[in-house]
Amino acid sequence: MAANIWYGLCNITLTLSGRKSVRALIPTFVSELQMSTRVIRAACPHDCPDTCAMLVTVIDGKAVSVRGDPGHSNTAGVLCTKVSRYVERTYHPERILYPMKRVGRKGEGKFARISWDEALFTIAGQLQKIAQRDSRAILPYSYAGTMGAVQGESMAMRFFNRLGASQLDRTICATAGGTGYKYTIGAKMGTDTEQYENAKLILVWGGNPVASNLHFWVKAQEAKRRGAVLVAIDPYRSLTAEKCQHHIALLPGTDSALALGIMHLLIRDDLLDHDYIDRYTLGFEALKDRVAAWTPQRVAETCGIPEEQLEMLASLYGETARRGDPAAIRMSYGLQRVRGGGMAARNIACLPALVGAWRHPAGGVLLSSGDSYPKQPMQMERPDLRPNDAARPARTINMSTIGDDLLRPASEEFGPQVEAIIVYNSNPVAVAPESAKVAQGFARDDLFTVVLEHFQTDTVDYADIVLPATTQLEHTDIHASYGHQYIIANNPAILPLGEAKPNTEIFRLLAARMGFSDPCFSDTDDDLAAQAFDTSHPHARSFDWPRLKDEGWMKLDVPAAPFAQGGFPTPSGKCEFYSEAMLRAGLDPLPAYIPPYESVASAPELAKDYPLAMISPPQRNFLNTTFVNVQSLRATEGEPHLDIHHDDAAARGIADGDQVRVFNQRGEMLAKARVSDAPRKGLVVALSIWWKKLAPDGRNANELTSQRLTDMGRAPTFYDVLVQVERAQPS
Ligand code: SF4
Repeated sequence: MAANIWYGLCNITLTLSGRKSVRALIPTFVSELQMSTRVIRAACPHDCPDTCAMLVTVIDGKAVSVRGDPGHSNTAGVLCTKVSRYVERTYHPERILYPMKRVGRKGEGKFARISWDEALFTIAGQLQKIAQRDSRAILPYSYAGTMGAVQGESMAMRFFNRLGASQLDRTICATAGGTGYKYTIGAKMGTDTEQYENAKLILVWGGNPVASNLHFWVKAQEAKRRGAVLVAIDPYRSLTAEKCQHHIALLPGTDSALALGIMHLLIRDDLLDHDYIDRYTLGFEALKDRVAAWTPQRVAETCGIPEEQLEMLASLYGETARRGDPAAIRMSYGLQRVRGGGMAARNIACLPALVGAWRHPAGGVLLSSGDSYPKQPMQMERPDLRPNDAARPARTINMSTIGDDLLRPASEEFGPQVEAIIVYNSNPVAVAPESAKVAQGFARDDLFTVVLEHFQTDTVDYADIVLPATTQLEHTDIHASYGHQYIIANNPAILPLGEAKPNTEIFRLLAARMGFSDPCFSDTDDDLAAQAFDTSHPHARSFDWPRLKDEGWMKLDVPAAPFAQGGFPTPSGKCEFYSEAMLRAGLDPLPAYIPPYESVASAPELAKDYPLAMISPPQRNFLNTTFVNVQSLRATEGEPHLDIHHDDAAARGIADGDQVRVFNQRGEMLAKARVSDAPRKGLVVALSIWWKKLAPDGRNANELTSQRLTDMGRAPTFYDVLVQVERAQPS
């Protein structure tokens, strides 16, 4: 068998003695015709901070397995359960393999196969007609269905920029926390994930890494084995919280108050690194005045936790750093899906500078490593192609308010009504907030909708034209990460199934049909990948696409302790406790607490009808709505559940396993009650995101979420929701 194994493009890593590894070149100069088995270097494309390096085994042109690359230190040979099923997903019998046009009502999901020629002719004709009136009536809608720089926003954005379409504000996940974090630290970067195993204290704040940041969790467990203390800060006793030594179950939306309380205690007890504060921070005296009001009693009341827990947490954090041990925070995006989400991330990002935790490579904080990469959006997306039409200034639509915006008529303030929407890498009918309005918008008969997809999702059901897109095994891509510091190549492992095409090819073909002859539309996917990163930047000097394709991955050249001696990429070059930029943006320049829109304390009238807070974090076996239609994974999750505290269930006569109706002023959904003390009292948890059509009642948690936006970053407030729950009436 060895003689007929061809390691496609391989410079494969051999693992020795289970721990050490060397990279050895495997000869590749063997005719493919002679060979039947190949191993291809690839990258996981999903919206997950781990961005795993994968090895795909292909036999006789068919992918038979995907596995984690054992030579890539972050992946360490392990993929999560979801992506281990990628072959099942790729060859799923329900893959969309041909272009289709709608033959039923919108939302009904009835389609007939058409040729690519007819599909492109129809789309180009519709877009040209609309563009003659006002090209801003055309809207792209996309997010992180793939995180690849090539199949994401490269050729697609070139197309929409050249067309002069409305721009999309891509806010649905991370912009609140990212904005707040950057006001304090200057960029989305921080502690290297690979360093966490050396930490002595890790605050796992606002996330459930067992489900959604698995490879960080492996490092955290290693740290625990070496004696570190792990603290979970989360309203819900998640799989992660169960495995930490301490769990602080604060009320949703109060993380910023908890951070203010920790700062108060660090200052009260002088658990500070004065030298670090003097040299590398801005605004300490103003911060001191601000947090003086955040007494332990006030914080405990605001967060709904015992004062002793706050004292324990602050003391643990401050004392660990004072001993010279690395104290690290892994902040996740869960905590910023509330009204004050930006401020929460900003406040937490202040903590390492107060105690000098940045001095150690394994200290500090990480929300995202995204800005460690010198990306080149100007080259990839070519905003310079946009028409310069003074009569039609560029118009931007926020993806988080798509429900309202699809229903908005033309007006001077809004601009033209949206007449066409092109959806790729996203499933807005299931994932956007206030879902009933989103579906109502997509159901408009006068809206021309094109969807590029792998499967017939809830959004596809509303399409006029459906285009079959390739999966990660069928196309070329290049990946940055928002969790680690590697660039990862994705080589195509198999030929496209059916008539599927990569997004890039679809937009190239559309550009040609529209008569766009700019040379950039001739760039191949390899050309695009080669443009993804700036090689003049010190982090990526050794980036070379042809070499990366062979080797699979490379680590950025980022210093191990990036802010050990300050050098924050803020306007002042310091960690900004006080931010002039925030003041200019109309925000409080100092850390503050912004209460949720919907909570018992901040909205007592609303809470009379809807007294329970609801959050909807990811199911372990789903990734947003990806994988919900993979039978083996959906079977593991069973059906939509609602976790509810014993006391709240008892007060409503709800028993474990009962079907319950969850409702508020925006909508309702059915779920099976799971009664326990995992959610704190007053909280219900609807693990998500189910395809609506695969739920028994055709609904999911986004029926209940609102389109109100965060304090910063114009992001949605998915976890800022009040609901009521009752036993469902038998039908
Ligand atoms: S979803 Fe995350 S953990 Fe799973 S394979 Fe992809 S990058 Fe790795």
